[in-house]
Amino acid sequence: MAKPTVDQVWEWLDAVPDPEIPVISLVDLGIIRGVEWQGETLIVSVTPTYSGCPATSIINLDIEIALRGHGIEKLELKRQISPPWTTNWLTEKGRAKLEDYGIAPPQPAGGPSRCPQCHSSNLERISQFGSTPCKATWRCRDCLEPFDYFKCI
Ligand SMILES: [Zn+2]
Repeated sequence: MAKPTVDQVWEWLDAVPDPEIPVISLVDLGIIRGVEWQGETLIVSVTPTYSGCPATSIINLDIEIALRGHGIEKLELKRQISPPWTTNWLTEKGRAKLEDYGIAPPQPAGGPSRCPQCHSSNLERISQFGSTPCKATWRCRDCLEPFDYFKCI
């Protein structure tokens, strides 16, 4: 079979959900740093998110399963740890999807800018750690709904 283009591979990767927050893709998360062909081998560079995040090995497996499913036979996953991943790498599309899902996207100021439910900015932090170490739990003082905030790093 003909080698798929790099653009095609990016498209496939954009269909692989983040194991922790399945509404966004690995591409939305910003952890796929490069896709290139070296001869007949497809090289995908991946930067882990939070160190110690248990999802990292699952992510590599998901990438492999997805690309093998599209017929990629020679695949090498490179772990790229420098520069380290930051939440700034989340795509605009990813941020919008997070908010739709009820998770406040990371903000440079270090706290959510508005409630994902009612968009009020009258917020309080409930807990430093939410459902995963990557998130904190906040609550909106207007609609009283608790929500996850994707912590900025
Ligand atoms: Zn609210």
